[in-house]
Amino acid sequence: MKQTIKEFLEYVKIRNQGEPEFLQAVEEVAETVIPYIVKNDIYYGKNILLRMVEPERVVMFRVCWVDDHGEIQVNRGFRIQMNSAIGPYKGGLRFHPSVNLSILKFLAFEQVFKNSLTTLPMGGGKGGSDFDPKGKSDNEIMRFCHAFMSELFRHIGPNTDVPAGDIGVGGREIGFLFGMYKKMKNEFTGVLTGKGMSWGGSKIRPEATGYGTVYFAQNMLETKDDSFKNKTVVISGSGNVAQFAAEKSIHLGAKVVTLSDSSGYIYDPEGIDEDKLAYVMDLKNEKRGRISEYVKVYPNAEYTAGKTPWGVACDIALPCATQNELDDKDAETLLSNGCICVSEGANMPSTKGAVEKFHKAKILFAPGKASNAGGVATSGLEMTQNSLRFNWTREEVDTKLKDIMEDIHDICIEYGKEEDGYIDYVKGANIAGFVKVADAMLAQGVI
Ligand code: NDP
Repeated sequence: MKQTIKEFLEYVKIRNQGEPEFLQAVEEVAETVIPYIVKNDIYYGKNILLRMVEPERVVMFRVCWVDDHGEIQVNRGFRIQMNSAIGPYKGGLRFHPSVNLSILKFLAFEQVFKNSLTTLPMGGGKGGSDFDPKGKSDNEIMRFCHAFMSELFRHIGPNTDVPAGDIGVGGREIGFLFGMYKKMKNEFTGVLTGKGMSWGGSKIRPEATGYGTVYFAQNMLETKDDSFKNKTVVISGSGNVAQFAAEKSIHLGAKVVTLSDSSGYIYDPEGIDEDKLAYVMDLKNEKRGRISEYVKVYPNAEYTAGKTPWGVACDIALPCATQNELDDKDAETLLSNGCICVSEGANMPSTKGAVEKFHKAKILFAPGKASNAGGVATSGLEMTQNSLRFNWTREEVDTKLKDIMEDIHDICIEYGKEEDGYIDYVKGANIAGFVKVADAMLAQGVI
């Protein structure tokens, strides 16, 4: 078996040179899915995983725009249309200077499995640009978003490909992108999700990824008759996912002690309560400030520059910033400080070495493709509401989100339970996500 996996990965590596993040994501899936394929005749010998690692289509394009000084700027735009076997391509847009083909292919590949797990009919895609929104004026953001969509619009559509937000793309950017799409197509459709409430957005969509990450952790804790009550929670990031993971943790009676951004982290030993979180939301979403400013308002907290928060003792860790932000050393530190549960809000935040440590210690560990699927699931609910021209209430969407997270948790157990009773959520999520997409691909033939 090891040889088969090795040969597969070597072949994929040759075809995707210089794409470390993509290869990392493929390796994690191959290690759990290939043994399953070998044991199941219907998938064996059909090169099904080989077909799944090849994007159906990759679009790369030039984005030119004029900054506030009258200078012409040139960025690169991307859309990876990875797999449409079970529905239109669906996945976020990321605006960050680190964006390249490798990062977007890893995200699109993960998205295929994640969307399959949600039980909703959505294929997988991802896109974005190496544009850096930090320090840009609202007008510059608008001009960039308009320029980006003036090309992307011809490749997407409500039944073809439905983008959403991700790092650097929030409500403001979705508004500008939607405006230009509507103008170019002369159509008001549900082509993007994460829209504003007055123009087609779904209640709970902003909260969904963070809330879902916590609901999933809660489901895992319940398998041990445990809960969030009185637990200490360490969270990385301070963007969309981190903010609402913090909010739901607080609602469930936990004490959240950290948040971070790419410059450093804050540790508040008294806990970040709802008032302090409201300050963070205003700081990050309206003032677009840095997390270091927190300690000026709450001097009992500490700010540590240039570090991640994994050295702070906790029961539950929620990595909600970016890929590979938690390595094997961080995992060791978390374990030695008594951490019992890790639920990934970000995509692939734990390195392969870190995941191995969590599995060896047999703690509760949820990979992002399962635990952060609440965001895209609620995007799926937004698509349904747009098609029906109808809105569910906040309570209705939240109930559906909870049910979906519970269903994902259950199916991970179905495919991931080991002989000794330990639940390998990575294996469970990969195989459950694979089966639905593979069955659809087999039914549709070689295309
Ligand atoms: P935001 O842009 O709202 O926030 C990102 C946060 O992560 C910021 O605090 C940012 O700090 C920090 N961050 C970004 N890059 C780095 C880095 N290289 N090192 C350290 N910190 C970094 O993004 P989201 O909250 O939407 O996304 C966070 C993660 O969740 C991503 O992995 C994304 O793919 C994933 N995700 C998001 C979903 C969504 O619905 N939004 C759905 C599913 C997954 P700074 O401000 O300094 O850049």
